[in-house]
Amino acid sequence: MNDTWLARARRVMPGGVNSPVRAFGAVGGEPPFVTKASGAFVETADGETLIDFVASWGALIFGHAHRPVVDAVTEAARRGTSFGLPSVAEVELAELIVETVPSVEVVRMVNSGTEATASAVRVARAATARPKIVKFEGCYHGHADPFLVKAGSGVATMGLPDSPGVPAATVADTVLVPFNDLDAASRAFAGGDVAAVIVEPVAGNMGVVPPDEGFLPGLRELCDRFGALLVFDEVMTGFRVALGGAQERYGVLPDLTCLGKVVAGGTPAAAYGGREDLMRRVAPDGPVYQAGTLAGNPLAVAAGLTTLRALQADPGVYDRLETVAATIEEELRHGLARRRIDGVVQRVGSMLTLFFGPERVRSWNDAAQVDRERFARFHRAALQRGVLVPPSPFEAWFVMAAHEDHVDQVVSALDAALGEAA
Ligand SMILES: *Cc1c(COP(=O)(O)O)cnc(C)c1O
Repeated sequence: MNDTWLARARRVMPGGVNSPVRAFGAVGGEPPFVTKASGAFVETADGETLIDFVASWGALIFGHAHRPVVDAVTEAARRGTSFGLPSVAEVELAELIVETVPSVEVVRMVNSGTEATASAVRVARAATARPKIVKFEGCYHGHADPFLVKAGSGVATMGLPDSPGVPAATVADTVLVPFNDLDAASRAFAGGDVAAVIVEPVAGNMGVVPPDEGFLPGLRELCDRFGALLVFDEVMTGFRVALGGAQERYGVLPDLTCLGKVVAGGTPAAAYGGREDLMRRVAPDGPVYQAGTLAGNPLAVAAGLTTLRALQADPGVYDRLETVAATIEEELRHGLARRRIDGVVQRVGSMLTLFFGPERVRSWNDAAQVDRERFARFHRAALQRGVLVPPSPFEAWFVMAAHEDHVDQVVSALDAALGEAA
């Protein structure tokens, strides 16, 4: 017998993957190895066709291999894959980001969300000349050292390293607070020295956890009162929960915004931006150093520009995404009720998560209560019926415009999977 792709992959890559969750550790079984994808579907090396809700972890909003994006990237490649010099399309993309994201006046392109958050925090620390960052338990801001800290107790706690290789000193200035807990956030300021609060305005990396009413405005007010900066990590929510992101949807303006995923239309790029006076501190306008050999890469810029222009030209797309996602949410909710399975479906726009167990998830402590075993059974049962939901109970499922034509199939497969997981 020939080796499976997984066996070959494991020999030469940690876990056989280039990002941990792809290894399917939380659900068991072997991850599908993709050969190609189109619209709502991915095709695997085993010849299966799956309706995909991973959607490149939210980077895809129209669908896989969306024709205008593929054409734009192909055309861009013919004109050169990288210049290391300023290019025309970068200016157009930056202008479009500034036009669409309410709080962004000046923007810098980078290569990943991880870079965007690390850079935004550097700017915040430089601008305030303070060291501390307030971060919420269960929020993910990429894998840069200062953010790799796990949940502490209910009160604001000084962070301890979450990963070997992260020196305690690197996270000593990261203050952890439970999501949706304004009192704890306010206590975190009491110690002084807070440069910034960084938050996913809709948490999406512990499953979808919407902000309580008043949470985001409360953070805005705390930051203003203490002279700290508010950083929205909209790597996931940007251009997804509204064209202008969560800041448009909830009407709260941060000082700095991190973008990724949709902004690059399924290619490797991201961005950070915000108030002009802050962003002018970035080199070469100012002294805060941050650079990138491939930043503003023409292939990524072409994919991003085409995606954002398509979203801007079709504002109804957000209503359509909402409708599809709401249908899936309702059907799952009915399925849970009908089978008397404890759990809840939480959704904001086209991001949703089915949590088995808790009645409501407002924070990481709630999310941690989920029935992981039941989720694993559900995941495998859905997969057997041709629907790929993200392989972890703590992830958002992403609806793409391409799902619109396949809702019935999705709903009946997920319902049958619920039956099997019951
Ligand atoms: C995905 C994500 C990141 C990290 O982006 P990468 O491109 O994977 O480095 C950061 N913040 C949030 C909110 C994300 O969802």
